[in-house]
Amino acid sequence: MAALFVSDIHLSPDRPEIAGLFRAFLLGRAHGADALYILGDLFDYWAGDEELGDHFNAGVAENMARCADSGVAIHIMRGNRDFLLGERFAHEARVKLIADPTVIELYGRRTLLSHGDDLCTDDEAYQNFRRKVRSPEWIDSFLQRPLAERRREIESLRALSETEKRRKSRSIMDVNPNAVEALLRRHGYPMLIHGHTHRPDRHEHLVDGNRCERWVLADWYQSGSCLVAETRALRREPIFPA
Ligand code: MN
Repeated sequence: MAALFVSDIHLSPDRPEIAGLFRAFLLGRAHGADALYILGDLFDYWAGDEELGDHFNAGVAENMARCADSGVAIHIMRGNRDFLLGERFAHEARVKLIADPTVIELYGRRTLLSHGDDLCTDDEAYQNFRRKVRSPEWIDSFLQRPLAERRREIESLRALSETEKRRKSRSIMDVNPNAVEALLRRHGYPMLIHGHTHRPDRHEHLVDGNRCERWVLADWYQSGSCLVAETRALRREPIFPA
C-alpha cells in the first residue's frame, strides 16, 4: 500500500539516462503501488499529442501503460513544459489527467496537489505569459499549426525564458508564501504537495492557526527522488543509483 509522487522529470531524447531511470521506476519501484501521481513536467516539452508519433515519446507512453496495466492508478497533472498533454496521450498511456490543483484523500489526509508554477506570483512576467498560453483560444490556434512549427516556437520561447531566468533572482522564481497561504485557506488547510521549483524540501505554514505541511518534489537532473506515502507519514526516497 503506497502512493508515489514525482514531478519535473523533464523527459527528452537528449537525456537517455533519465528516460532509462524513469522506465526502471515505472516497471520496478512503482510496481505494486496503489497510485502514482506525476505532478507536471513529465516531458521537457510537449507540442501536442501528435508527439506520440515520435519513437521516444511512444516508448514512454508504452511503459506507462505497462505500469498502469499492472494495477497502478497513474494520474498526470500538466506542468508548464507539458501543458499541451491531451486525452490522446492519456488514453495511450492509460493514465488519468487531473486538474491543477486537485484535492485527494491520502490515507485519511486531505491533500492538495499542484504543479506549483501558479504559486510563483513574484514572477509577474512569467504569470502574464502563463495566462496567455493557457487560454483556450491560444491553445486552439496553436494546436492548428503544423507540429514542426509548434516545436520551433516552443524552442524559441524556451530560449527566451532561459535568458530571462538568468536575470531573475532566486527568490522571484520561488513560490510566494502569501500565494501558498491563500491556496491553503481556499481549500480548508490541507497538506500541499507540489513541484516546479526544483527545491525539494518540507515546509510548514501556520495559516489562521492551522499547521499545514508543504512538500516540494525534486526534479530528476543531477539527483532525484520520489515522495512516498504509505500511511499518514511521508518520506523521500532517492531515485538515482548510489
Ligand atoms: Mn515546471
